[in-house]
Amino acid sequence: MDTNRHQTSGKIFVVSAPSGAGKSSLIDRVKIDFPDIEESVSCTTRSPRGSERNGVDYFFISVEEFIARRDAGCFAEWAEVHGNFYGTPLDFLRERIENGKNIICVIDYQGGLNIAKNFPDSSVLIFILPPSMAELERRLRGRSTESEEEILRRLGNAKRELSFCDRYDFFVVNDSFDRALRQLEAIFSAYTDSSFLNNRNIINSLMHKDE
Ligand code: ADP
Ligand code: 5GP
Repeated sequence: MDTNRHQTSGKIFVVSAPSGAGKSSLIDRVKIDFPDIEESVSCTTRSPRGSERNGVDYFFISVEEFIARRDAGCFAEWAEVHGNFYGTPLDFLRERIENGKNIICVIDYQGGLNIAKNFPDSSVLIFILPPSMAELERRLRGRSTESEEEILRRLGNAKRELSFCDRYDFFVVNDSFDRALRQLEAIFSAYTDSSFLNNRNIINSLMHKDE
């Protein structure tokens, strides 16, 4: 692990999972336990659902606006997911990591792989897995936020998404919520807790104690 790099630039934690696997629920908890890690707010062309707020959950923009921003190079990555466009604003990401801040991007696997390509030294890719496809369907239905057509589309996409996850760095199975949260937070701690990184100074002082 290159500790100097960790100390000088922030990390981009990419979190991906099939819809309904529990990534939003887990990340909501991580943000409470790691208040210094900011979540990137994506642009999307889909309509707000439930209590979602513009500028908080997403920037809800038209297809024309999305295409204009995409063509102007405003996105760090973008993808079409479940029939809508989604993109990660580049300025936010760049400014934060250059200033040593850590960012979470909850994005799909296409976006995750593009972030890894565009920011190879700064990205950490984490994939959340459901315990089974049956449980994924149960959670998606239990959430009651999508139409039947949308649920079937998301379940259909889940298998294809899973076939790309072997290119990720870490896998967390969200069976027991508490265990998944612990594993996820262990990954965040390993990359952000300065006491781990400062152990290099202790090694140096132990090695040179007789000099
Ligand atoms: P995603 O953001 O991946 O689409 P959500 O976080 O919205 O998924 O979770 C989908 C549903 O599953 C929600 O109703 C959530 O409360 C529930 N859920 C999340 N994790 C678990 C878990 N470990 N066990 C049971 N239900 C869960
Ligand atoms: P939802 O419509 O359920 O909020 O999100 C659908 C999918 O789009 C999820 O897999 C979510 O992670 C992904 N997504 C959200 N924002 C972005 C983004 O900026 N870029 C990419 N590539 N995917 C995104």
